[in-house]
Amino acid sequence: MTIEQLTTPMTVKGSLKSKAILNSGEVALVGSGPGDPELLTLRALRFIEQAEVTIYDRLVSDEILALLPENSENFYVGKEQAKHCVPQDKINQLLVDQAKLGKRVLRLKGGDPFIFGRGGEEAEYLLENGVSCHICPGITAASGCTTYAGIPLTHRGVAQGCTFITGHIQNNGQLNLPWESLANKSQTVVFYMGINTLPKIAEELVNHGRAGDTPAALIRRGTQPEQQVFRGTISNLSALVEEHKITPPTLIVIGEVVNQLTEQSLATPGFLKAEESMQYKLANAQASVEIS
Ligand code: SAH
Repeated sequence: MTIEQLTTPMTVKGSLKSKAILNSGEVALVGSGPGDPELLTLRALRFIEQAEVTIYDRLVSDEILALLPENSENFYVGKEQAKHCVPQDKINQLLVDQAKLGKRVLRLKGGDPFIFGRGGEEAEYLLENGVSCHICPGITAASGCTTYAGIPLTHRGVAQGCTFITGHIQNNGQLNLPWESLANKSQTVVFYMGINTLPKIAEELVNHGRAGDTPAALIRRGTQPEQQVFRGTISNLSALVEEHKITPPTLIVIGEVVNQLTEQSLATPGFLKAEESMQYKLANAQASVEIS
């Protein structure tokens, strides 16, 4: 296979038989991943290409929105100017109404629609109203953002598991989480929507026995051109947020894995560069093979 074949998406797309057919009157509930369009699945891309109506959130990146068909009618249902989200029941109804107009409807959400994405609620409402719905996973922020930041979520002998959990305050105004199990040091914990409750998260983890000097990281706009990664410890993470004025969307990662790979190796998001002195010299290696 030539390099040209490898880098031409049409070749890949053309050689795979598509199962992603979006008919009139149907909805495709699609995860767009954490932002880098190269992290879209082929299935997601195929649904995107068929959209006549697109209903999308705040977390869908501009680079992915640029892939929408020119004639797609687009509805933004993320934060409005007044900083109020379009209520979930209005979004549900919009999906049903557009499908019933006979449109091919793309519901595009950040990350994975079924991970802190309310995709389940939307699918339920569509089915209750007689609208069929394709479901397409996306790379969730915990996976995409940590990988692009050079943080392995699990690592043999360091973290045997990982937990994805929301740091969003519950309806009763509390943050009632299973702190006992989150404080278990053999796992990595990833908090979604936790930036505003970070002081409370840090306090509870330490109160329940997780060491204050446990490595921790903040990843803002992971996988996107503006990606920012801050490494620290549970104890100083809140100070980092203040110092760098970090706002959502930001992911909080807690655990020894944060320092598993050195920060210096991360040349660009998603690329670990070997040290100059250690770099394998292809030309020399080949020459020595020929000589021997
Ligand atoms: N369904 C999404 C999550 C939606 S909840 C998914 O599977 O990824 C929104 C939270 O996700 C944000 O507050 C933030 O904590 C996290 N998030 C989503 N995309 C992100 C990104 N590109 N960088 C950092 N955090 C992100």
